[in-house]
Amino acid sequence: MKIVRVETFLVPPRWLFCRIETDEGLVGWGEPVVEGRAEVVRAAVEVLAEQLVGQDPLRIQDHWQVLTKGGFYRGGPVLSSAVAGLDHALWDIAGKAYGAPVHSLLGGPVRDRVRVYAWVGGDEPAQIGEQVAAQIEAGFTAVKMNGSGRTDPVPSAAGTAEVVRRVAAAREALGPERDVAVDFHGRFTPAGARRVLHEIAPLHPLFVEEPVLPDQSHLLAPLAAATSVPLATGERLYGRGEFLPVLQAGIAVAQPDLSHAGGITEVTRIAALAETFGAQLAPHCPLGPISLAASLQVAFCTPNFLIQEQSLGIHYNKEADLLSYLVDTEPFRFVDGHAVRTTLPGLGITVDEAAVRAADRAGHAWRNPVWRHADGSFAEW
Ligand SMILES: [Mg+2]
Repeated sequence: MKIVRVETFLVPPRWLFCRIETDEGLVGWGEPVVEGRAEVVRAAVEVLAEQLVGQDPLRIQDHWQVLTKGGFYRGGPVLSSAVAGLDHALWDIAGKAYGAPVHSLLGGPVRDRVRVYAWVGGDEPAQIGEQVAAQIEAGFTAVKMNGSGRTDPVPSAAGTAEVVRRVAAAREALGPERDVAVDFHGRFTPAGARRVLHEIAPLHPLFVEEPVLPDQSHLLAPLAAATSVPLATGERLYGRGEFLPVLQAGIAVAQPDLSHAGGITEVTRIAALAETFGAQLAPHCPLGPISLAASLQVAFCTPNFLIQEQSLGIHYNKEADLLSYLVDTEPFRFVDGHAVRTTLPGLGITVDEAAVRAADRAGHAWRNPVWRHADGSFAEW
């Protein structure tokens, strides 16, 4: 079997898909994307595809080596995301070739269902209690929310109280049996994060995500030592080499993104590395159906898995949503807040190719907002 074609599709709301076709008619799908830089990743996929056309798609490990290291310069969001999507598609083909779901090729299932959480509150969190109640009604047992919108790096007393009020509103709606995770999005300075962590700790968040920016990861160790709140990070880290220092710093939850951190091949390695630190895996996935399918395949076969993000109804999904490009939406029909294990081959989803091709004709140019502080200076989004 040989790879004959690699195509990319820029589809709303903000995604990029890739499709690898073989001479035997088997097709694999991947989701190589950096949100807001999809066109750049598309160009990277097109260049990397030169290494794949004419090759046996089943030599995934070897392709991963060549794609990540064969160009001398390596890593970073664009290249690692391009490799990630191609890696999804190669695993999808392998599963279809062997007639098995990817998690079976990776050693078989360790669980039959995967707990997923739902987003509430959007970029500027408001009406948290009502939104949490709606997600509980939909069956979810955990939600995630931003701690704040645009904020002062060291929040005022009022700003800190507002974060506490939001998390408390979520906790009140959830009760003690369900969970709330809080994403700081790197919007506070380390000092601001330390103060807010202390204030919300009594509300027992499942974890606090990106308490500081990735460039300040060297400050995670004192932060982890100063709080009882489990710290999470990883959506802006691109390989196991970047996860090692944050695990050494004491994070409790590793959050590689299947579309950013080198795909299924590298995320399974990151999970194994995290296990040696007693840390759990909670893959980042505010993205599309292929990225989620890849995440779930990893979750089904990873012992130290915690919970999975998914984007159904997320504030980014305006022109299209998680289910828009699937022939059969059953794999993402969550039961009691869980994804049920699939036995379908490959990634376990059937992409609606006609819908993808039509959506690509319209494309998208999604960008995140650029925020400013009241004095006009740049603010972290
Ligand atoms: Mg995040």
